[in-house]
Amino acid sequence: MNWHRLRKVVHLICFLAFLALPFLNVVRFDIPRQRFYFAGYELWISEFAIIFFALMFLMFLVVLSSVFYGRVYCGYFCPQMIFSEASMAVETFLRRKVVRKFGHWKAATREWLVRAAFHAVVGPASIVLAFIFISYFVEPRDLVHRLLSLDIRTAGGISGAAVTLVAYLDFSLVRLRFCTTVCPYGYLQGMLGDANTLLVQYRDGTPKKECIECKKCVRVCPMGIDIRESPFQIECVHCGECIDACDEILGRLHKPGLIHYTWGRKLDAKRAIVLLVLLAYGGGLFAALAMRQPVLTRVDPVRATLYRVADGRVWNHFRYTISNRGGKPAVVKFSIAQLPEATLSLDSPITVKPGEVAEGEFDISVPWAPHEELVRHFTILTRTDTIPMTFLAPSEAQ
Ligand code: SF4
Ligand code: SF4
Repeated sequence: MNWHRLRKVVHLICFLAFLALPFLNVVRFDIPRQRFYFAGYELWISEFAIIFFALMFLMFLVVLSSVFYGRVYCGYFCPQMIFSEASMAVETFLRRKVVRKFGHWKAATREWLVRAAFHAVVGPASIVLAFIFISYFVEPRDLVHRLLSLDIRTAGGISGAAVTLVAYLDFSLVRLRFCTTVCPYGYLQGMLGDANTLLVQYRDGTPKKECIECKKCVRVCPMGIDIRESPFQIECVHCGECIDACDEILGRLHKPGLIHYTWGRKLDAKRAIVLLVLLAYGGGLFAALAMRQPVLTRVDPVRATLYRVADGRVWNHFRYTISNRGGKPAVVKFSIAQLPEATLSLDSPITVKPGEVAEGEFDISVPWAPHEELVRHFTILTRTDTIPMTFLAPSEAQ
């Protein structure tokens, strides 16, 4: 297995997914509209239970991946790793081109040309990456509008400019240093990993040592470590480059490589607990999504005036809010149960567009009769909701 080739294929797939996800609303948190998009669902910020289960499920998915597969996420799926390696590959490519074309120039001049060409590529690339990144939090069409109007006054515009600058500095200067210095996931992995986790391990237990000390495994390591010292070095991102390097060198001598992935698949108590917690959150998320109602109707009595008596009837005033959290227009019609002879001053059904909230007020009236109860319990019905309510009446004729 050539791990480098596999990793580059995975990097390409991840890059394409990174580009597509905000436009397909697979995972996106729209801050201005206060919506969380998950697996095709448009969740409102008020649907806290679903958002909580979705976030906990994603978090424990990362924890599960860590306890089983160590830092494989870092080497194969992390955007920081993918873009850092891409920026280094661009720099190497440009340097080769410049040396080939301008080999007769002074080395300092050639280096200046390489740096200028590199920044000319990384600058626009940073704008594109920042645009995609912010699309996870702001609607992409709104973002295009802000970008074209060079908006650096609103919060969205300032965030865009800041993310572009950070991306530019990151991919031109910091790159993989981020992984070994500030990345919190690397430190978290130090706590979660153990001998049963997937490791990259050097083994040369033969009495006549097979390692020829070529140090190619050290030279190719993007994190600058020597895996022969220990499989538990926090900098190791499990990329497998050292495995390929050793396989290639010793393969020329018709010997097997000395570095391997050792699969830590043992299902011990720690891994079983994490798996159970993940399944519990996955089950909770599934149940919450299955029970989700796209149209949420709320009715509240307006008690500024308890009741009104006119034309021989008693009137109570109510306020409704209809939130359409689905993708189709919703038509809501109210009716009344358990309140004989009641009439509703709202004849036509209310139509609410997808993603919108309709608010309004209406009256309910009943004929006034002496000795009627002062507080009567009844129900307001819609096609999907049953809303318990109370009706107030005066104690004597007015
Ligand atoms: S690449 Fe293999 S043979 Fe060469 S130094 Fe590393 S472990 Fe030894
Ligand atoms: S030691 Fe090997 S697997 Fe670990 S980061 Fe370096 S090259 Fe990748």
